Amino acid sequence: MKYDVVVVGSGPAGTVTARFAAEAGVNVLIIERRAEVGVPVLCGEGISRKIDEWNIIKGTRWMAGKMEGARIYSPDGTCVKLSAERAGNETGYVIYRDVFDQELARLAIEAGAELMTNTNATGLIKEKGRIRGIRAKHFDEEIEIEADIVVGADGVDSKIGKWAGIDTTLKPEDLETCCQYTFANVKNLDSYCDFYLGKEIAPGGYIWVFPKGKGIANVGIGILASLSEAGMAKKLLDNFISKDPRFKNAHPLRFLAGAVPVALPVETVRDNLILVGDAARHVDPITGGGLTHCLEVGKIAGEVIGKAVKEKNFSKEFLSEYETRWKGAIGKKMKRNYMVKEIMLDMDDKTFNMLADSLKDYKFDELSTFSLIKALVKKHPTLLMKLRPLMKVAKET
Ligand SMILES: Cc1cc2nc3c(=O)[nH]c(=O)nc-3n(C[C@H](O)[C@H](O)[C@H](O)COP(=O)(O)OP(=O)(O)OC[C@H]3O[C@@H](n4cnc5c(N)ncnc54)[C@H](O)[C@@H]3O)c2cc1C
Repeated sequence: MKYDVVVVGSGPAGTVTARFAAEAGVNVLIIERRAEVGVPVLCGEGISRKIDEWNIIKGTRWMAGKMEGARIYSPDGTCVKLSAERAGNETGYVIYRDVFDQELARLAIEAGAELMTNTNATGLIKEKGRIRGIRAKHFDEEIEIEADIVVGADGVDSKIGKWAGIDTTLKPEDLETCCQYTFANVKNLDSYCDFYLGKEIAPGGYIWVFPKGKGIANVGIGILASLSEAGMAKKLLDNFISKDPRFKNAHPLRFLAGAVPVALPVETVRDNLILVGDAARHVDPITGGGLTHCLEVGKIAGEVIGKAVKEKNFSKEFLSEYETRWKGAIGKKMKRNYMVKEIMLDMDDKTFNMLADSLKDYKFDELSTFSLIKALVKKHPTLLMKLRPLMKVAKET
């Protein structure tokens, strides 16, 4: 089997990359180890309205609800309300993630990409140290897929980068342990995504309640692996649900556990190789949201692959246009948000309460990190010391 490009993983990062490469005339194969694209769903299913501007996914089949905004609750219950435009990566729409992923895959196939499910990548084919394709198991059959470029879009526990010699190790403090229910018969849901913060509630992370319509809610928790122990995420989430009256007569339709990287991105290009999405750690380190980045970065990857195939140049040097462009799009924000994540880790519940108190009446019209810090410090000057490391990056954003 020979293709210009083999993409490992049919999540949003893989299928968007494949689609834009195929649209540029590239012969692409996506391989997916699961039997069905997008299933099982392990996601809060929140996505920013930014995707409206990109024209990457159309229609409404994948949309469970359009959100007015987000409410962020501090440990003492103080609520900070944000409009959908201001609320970041996970607020705008709540989606049916399985339908969303399948729609992105459909668009890739429509553009000319091929997709093989039940196909697990087991290693890289290398010749004199150069990557030449992928070894995989399709059902019980061992196969070899030759390709000029291998795209690692194989998610949080990516092997492709590691096989290529890239250090993709995630430290426990850069990994969120998550679990998530979909509940039916939840009462009093509206069109806001709710986030609950606090050391007791979700150490190093948060609990979310995202409404999906008809009394259905996606409810989950992410806690930092370094602050966690076996079973802790589920225990904390169950405790929260048992105390929230909205869930009194609700029952789960689905429960799943997994992880999300909250790290800085790794090296994303080598000769004949590109990493995208969670495999590249393209996830917002504060929120753990990765979907918008997958779309934004996947498009760039597909376009650069298109040029590389046209020029028959698969060198790291040529492919590094991809790294330069994704850094231009999300690099600064990733660095800043990683720093904010680190600062938040040192905060106790009292500080979270002070932050919420400073922001609860803040007019989020002029939203820059700098203006936020000014607002915070004005009401609670003691926050200045904690936020000082942010001042330098804040002036640039
Ligand atoms: C609990 C939870 C909640 C989340 N909530 C949100 C949210 O609300 N909003 C948001 O924006 N982000 C959220 N995220 C993050 C988001 O889900 C990820 O950023 C996103 O799925 C990354 O897409 P991807 O294509 O990089 O990887 P994935 O979607 O993980 O896709 C990788 C694919 O590769 C396949 N694969 C892996 N290894 C192989 C192999 N060896 N061979 C073949 N195929 C392979 C996998 O089966 C999978 O289909 C959440 C994550 C978790 C865990």
